[in-house]
Amino acid sequence: MITDLAINRDPDSATEAGATIIRVAVPTPLYRNFDYQIPDGIALAQLRPGCRVRVPFGRQQLTGVALELRAQSDCPAHKLKPVLAALDAEPVLDADLLELLQWAARYYHHPLGEVIHIALPAPLREGRANAALTISRWQTSTGGDAIEAVTQLKRAPKQLQLLQLLQQYPGGLDADQLNALTDNWRHAMRALLEKNLVVERQQSALSPINSNHDSAPRLRHEQQASVNAIMASLGEHQVHLLHGVTGSGKTEVYLALTEAVLAAGQQVLVLVPEISLTPQLGECFQTRFNVPVAMLHSGLSDNQRFIAWRACATGEARLLIGTRSAIFTPLPELGLIVLDEEHDGSYKQQEGFRYNARDLALVRAQKIGVPVVLGSATPSLESLHNAVRQRYQLHTLTQRAGNNHKVRIELMDLRKQKLEEGLSALLIDRIKQHLQNQGQVLLFLNRRGFAPLLLCHACGWSTLCARCDAHMTYHQHKQQLHCHHCGAESRAPQVCADCGDSELVAIGAGTERIENHLRNLFAETTISRIDRDTTRRKGSLQAKLAEAHSGESGILIGTQMLAKGHDFPNLTLVAVLDADQSLHSTDFRAAEHLAQLIIQVSGRAGRAEKPGEVVIQTHHPDHPLLQTLLHHGYNGFAEAALAERQLAVLAPYSHLVILRCEAVKQGAGEEFMRAAHDLLQRFNPTGVSIFGPVKAPMERRAGRFRSQVMLQASDRRPLHRVLQFWLPQLQALKQARAVRWSLDVDPYDTY
Ligand code: ADP
Ligand code: ZN
Ligand code: ZN
Repeated sequence: MITDLAINRDPDSATEAGATIIRVAVPTPLYRNFDYQIPDGIALAQLRPGCRVRVPFGRQQLTGVALELRAQSDCPAHKLKPVLAALDAEPVLDADLLELLQWAARYYHHPLGEVIHIALPAPLREGRANAALTISRWQTSTGGDAIEAVTQLKRAPKQLQLLQLLQQYPGGLDADQLNALTDNWRHAMRALLEKNLVVERQQSALSPINSNHDSAPRLRHEQQASVNAIMASLGEHQVHLLHGVTGSGKTEVYLALTEAVLAAGQQVLVLVPEISLTPQLGECFQTRFNVPVAMLHSGLSDNQRFIAWRACATGEARLLIGTRSAIFTPLPELGLIVLDEEHDGSYKQQEGFRYNARDLALVRAQKIGVPVVLGSATPSLESLHNAVRQRYQLHTLTQRAGNNHKVRIELMDLRKQKLEEGLSALLIDRIKQHLQNQGQVLLFLNRRGFAPLLLCHACGWSTLCARCDAHMTYHQHKQQLHCHHCGAESRAPQVCADCGDSELVAIGAGTERIENHLRNLFAETTISRIDRDTTRRKGSLQAKLAEAHSGESGILIGTQMLAKGHDFPNLTLVAVLDADQSLHSTDFRAAEHLAQLIIQVSGRAGRAEKPGEVVIQTHHPDHPLLQTLLHHGYNGFAEAALAERQLAVLAPYSHLVILRCEAVKQGAGEEFMRAAHDLLQRFNPTGVSIFGPVKAPMERRAGRFRSQVMLQASDRRPLHRVLQFWLPQLQALKQARAVRWSLDVDPYDTY
């Protein structure tokens, strides 16, 4: 659990009486806030903390957020410029949220101005009014005869095209969406409206309240016990870890708690890893309650996000379901935070302001005195550790709801076995058996494309990326090479670029190759591949999942997209094709991730009447991690892994910070890192160990050379003290101009 860092009390902060100056958080990468004079025309009420102001900044004008009134500035008075305009009558960020953002800026050592900027919806960042916004949506009018419309529009191809586009989206499209799909549509739309072929509606922020909502099932004993225990802490701060095996009905626990909090007149925040991957959870909440629900996720346009944000801030929305950044939404009557799949890496922002939404949820809940429920079938080692230390209250659900069967996990020894395109003969037999018994099969492989590289059989040349220390993946269907690290694409070579030989061999197997091979082996079976390549088109993931759910596809091949909470009732065999990839990883969390993956995908099997079975292909069947997981389950694994972490003094037994740097010129990065390291040595920090500078595990990516320094400490305080002094000085280094650097507090991985 994160402890608060000291706040320096400042003698110059002022009450309204003596105030002539306003301190403003301005969106710049500088580690400081800026003071401005308050001109006569602006009322102090418009400069309350959390109100936006327009201020001059160098030659620009920026939208900043007022922090505090002051009697004096450290800057001489004649140098202070006046505020240009006050933009809000009421703060856009309430006191609680502003405090959270200030906390986050201190904790992650990120400039407050940028933190606030990221937290605000785009229209507010741009200085637009914080006022109700409606979005027009157009949809085809019902009742009109489609064929008749086509004849009517024979001479107006643009209108016909637009109408046909709208016909594909029964829910209608808004301007942002139309702009993305087509251009110059407004004129044609007006014509279609006049012909009554299209109707325009004002879309409200929130999903329509449904009147015939689902009723809750009777909770089972374990579920009820968890609900009761958590309910006892409503109205105070407590972290609850709900560790429930897959299918044990964690969602019903969330729903029961949510119902109680809504009934008490409070708002509820539900955080989920990625809505498009777990649409069921959102639907569950929407169909259960009779209240306005807001959703925030990456599929929305800026205006849609703003509308949802505002509905939460005004209290109109009672329930917010959102991904990572929803943690920054104002919810004045927040009474409970639920965070599902708490172990999931997507809660951690991996670039820029690298916050962790799980940790911020805990801080937010602590500050306002409300409980948090963290749920998972495979809790992170950090959270289990906190449960052991009784900082979190642990609740367990051990039984799967309904008549689910226990799954059997088996390690399939690949040594000395012949592999066909990454599949062992034993596994292929097993697939055959399950298909014969009308079972569905899921093959899991976290590598998309056909093969990770092409190799020249004559000279050893291979398809390296020109900009990364990595191979380009061969995508056979498209006849292209893709670099999965920098996004580079090129045509697949027909001959070796070095010696011209035509025998290029595809080494290793990705999902595309597995799919091809299985199509040959099981021509009669419907096979569906679900990865980023096959689900790029909007709606295609939903369609594929629906097909998989219906049991139509006999074999599913997927990447981690399929590891999440999907329910395939017919699934009886799950195979993890390449566990060894993780066993060989240098990342200290790799073992934890592999264990979580195995348990999560195992949870997909045997959900209905049919017993399930899980097969893990590996060359290391005796690996202690795999053995512990098999014989002692996730808890046994976690215990062993925590003991290892303790010996190695890794998280959660120590705190880690990484300074990363990337430079176009190799030498520039080294020079910066050396200077940064020298500064660090000068502080001579006791209680902080310094590792590096070293090259990043993949030194060159997207044409930049990357290096890093790691700081490790068993106590956070000396670590944060060092950072507080180090960072502003880093920024001032002349070597900093030739590089890009960033700081990662509590990194998710060490790449
Ligand atoms: P988890 O999130 O823990 O993996 P889910 O919440 O998805 O599990 O629940 C698994 C299934 O069990 C769902 O189909 C859910 O509707 C059902 N279920 C959960 N609780 C009950 C209950 N008390 N009675 C009947 N069915 C339940
Ligand atoms: Zn060659
Ligand atoms: Zn690349």
